[in-house]
Parts: sequence; C-alpha cells; structure tokens
Amino acid sequence: MFGFMKGLGVTLRQLPKKKVTLMYPEQKPVWPERFRGVHRFIPDLCIVCNQCARVCPTDCISLSGTRGPDKKMRIDTYDINFDICILCSLCTDVCPTESILMSDTFELATYSRDNLYLDMHWLYENELAYERNHPERFVKDAEGNVESEKAGDAE
Ligand code: SF4
Ligand code: SF4
Repeated sequence: MFGFMKGLGVTLRQLPKKKVTLMYPEQKPVWPERFRGVHRFIPDLCIVCNQCARVCPTDCISLSGTRGPDKKMRIDTYDINFDICILCSLCTDVCPTESILMSDTFELATYSRDNLYLDMHWLYENELAYERNHPERFVKDAEGNVESEKAGDAE
C-alpha cells in the first residue's frame, strides 16, 4: 500500500509539469543544427576525388564519375548503403568541396533492405528539402536562389 501511494505521489507531482514527449509522427522534433542525420548531396560541387569513399569505415559509399571536355571530373553515380552507414560524418569531414553533408532527415524505416541503398538523386532531393526546411541557414540572392550555406552548419 505504501509503495502504491508513493508511486501515485510521483504521478500527481508530474501532472501539472510541462510535457516533454511529442505526438510523433504528427509532431516532429526540431533537431540542433549539428544533428547527424541522413546525408544530403550537391552533385555540381563534387570533384570525384573519392576521399569520402576512402575514409568511410564501413565501406558504404560507392561512386563513379567521368572527365568532361573541360578536363574537369563530374559525378555520374553516388550511392550510400544506409543499411551499414553508422552516420559517423567522417565522409563530410574530408570532403574538400562540401558536396556531401549531413542533414536532419532521420526516418528511413522500411520493410526491405534494398530501399536503404539511396542514390545521388535521392540525396540531392534531400538537400533541396533541407534548404526548404531551413531557409535561415542559407545565404540567398535577390531571386531567392541559394548562394551559400552559413558557417557552422556545413557538417
Ligand atoms: S557517415 Fe560514416 S559510415 Fe556513413 S557514409 Fe559517411 S563515413 Fe561512411
Ligand atoms: S569527398 Fe566530396 S568531392 Fe570528393 S568524391 Fe566525395 S563528395 Fe565528391
């Protein structure tokens, strides 16, 4: 009986306090700027240096590119296997052009592991979604096009 009253006392003390839980998925959490969620990718910035793939501890990045008529390398395919990615962010740390970055996307639950291979187009769409969701983190020109990302968020 004493234990029951003690437990009830804890419950009653918590009732008037501010709730810390969210009605997920209707309510989404707001993550801090440096949250390490699923990647976003900007193909135009990639120079196909392969550093991200070489540093990856789980070998989950595969990419290919070709040299254009101007002698510059351009990315053709860029895939990440999120079945084995550990979201360590080493790939974004070594990228010299900041074409691969972390985002606050985190919902990848699926019934098939095949759906966890995400390609360049998905990763670029994730970049566009990130720009739409966080306009305050980008510098834009007069037409509203993204010019650059503000310092401190590009990891
Ligand atoms: S976050 Fe880590 S494990 Fe995932 S792709 Fe980048 S380097 Fe590899
Ligand atoms: S490190 Fe950056 S620039 Fe180099 S291949 Fe990877 S994404 Fe492209």
